[in-house]
Amino acid sequence: MKLPIYMDYHATTPVDPRVLDAMMPFFSDKFGNPASRQHQFGWISEEAVTSARGTIAKHIRAEPREIIFTSGATESNNLSIKGVVESSKQNGDHIITAATEHRSVLDTCKKLEKLGIRITYLGVDQFGQINLDKLSESITPKTILVSIMAANNEIGTIQNIADIGNICHTKGVFFHSDATQAVGKIPIDVTSMNIDLLSFSAHKMYGPKGVGVLYVRSANPKVKLTMQMDGGGHERGIRSGTLNVPGIVGLAKALEISILSIADETERIKRYRDKMYNAFITRIEKVQLNGHPIERLPNNLNISFLGVEDNALMMSLKDIALSIGSACSTADPEPSHVLKALHLPQERLHSAIRFGLGRFTTEEEVDYVINRVIETVDKLRSQSPSFSRSREIVQQQ
Ligand SMILES: *Cc1c(COP(=O)(O)O)cnc(C)c1O
Repeated sequence: MKLPIYMDYHATTPVDPRVLDAMMPFFSDKFGNPASRQHQFGWISEEAVTSARGTIAKHIRAEPREIIFTSGATESNNLSIKGVVESSKQNGDHIITAATEHRSVLDTCKKLEKLGIRITYLGVDQFGQINLDKLSESITPKTILVSIMAANNEIGTIQNIADIGNICHTKGVFFHSDATQAVGKIPIDVTSMNIDLLSFSAHKMYGPKGVGVLYVRSANPKVKLTMQMDGGGHERGIRSGTLNVPGIVGLAKALEISILSIADETERIKRYRDKMYNAFITRIEKVQLNGHPIERLPNNLNISFLGVEDNALMMSLKDIALSIGSACSTADPEPSHVLKALHLPQERLHSAIRFGLGRFTTEEEVDYVINRVIETVDKLRSQSPSFSRSREIVQQQ
């Protein structure tokens, strides 16, 4: 077993060796620009992109022409929200999203708010789910878009995407979902789930960084998007710029591998995750699970060890790559916006640790992490006067 151990698979994942093999020729021999229609070099690249587009479409039950390649989920989220706002000006000026969305959705909405768009930020329950009745009530004749993520990157909570899609379609409002943490881990089907726009990224599913997808529904209803980057009119005029061919080939391969191994991988990773959780709750006192107990990603474990500062715990566990709050804001001592939205006691917010398991996590690593965390929590608690006092009180009772 090699140290440090990586348990931060929500932040990014290593490229699967099979994905890297598929990509390699497109950096060297097959380097052509797929937009070059006049020669072999272009044709070979175009063929690879077409094949990747078909694979990706098939696995989310879309049509190939509905797949738009981007630089990642941040761009896909920006493009879908800003693109709908610009193209639907005549239809309305109201967007509904949730308080626990990724920054790339929330900050996009905040910017649009300054430009006069009205935004409803739905709250969530203690497990991180939105209330479907509240969603229905919030939709007005001026609502143009609902943007709700499929699965949360911090607490792993899965939303009822099919029900949300159903509500949006009944009311005639476009539905966008950031499915970056969900694609390849839980079934995502844009047809049966009534999703109109879907964002995801290769590097969260064992593909390369810097390439992503935006699915854009082409019929029933057709989504019109205004392009956000002007240029050559690639990707049906929705996203200009020369395509990242190796990245696109890698994304398709990564998605294919994830979908084909979803059953086995879910079973194994869930077993490891549950082994960790059960060890923590039986061998340490005052441990609390953050996020939904059942409707959660198989690879996510977000736990509060009460009385232990999240930062102190992480610093004492330098041999394990973990995350507190959100990976994007660890320099910020404030609890993350996701944890805050759960309305938990302060103590629980400041002691929350995220364990993200993945394809290359081994049982040996899981056992090591269990023992290291338990011994470190015990040590930090024994050094904390307030916690030893509360423990004495418990023992006296
Ligand atoms: C990582 C992540 C993003 C951003 O993806 P990039 O490809 O890195 O831009 C967006 N949403 C969620 C839920 C994520 O986990």
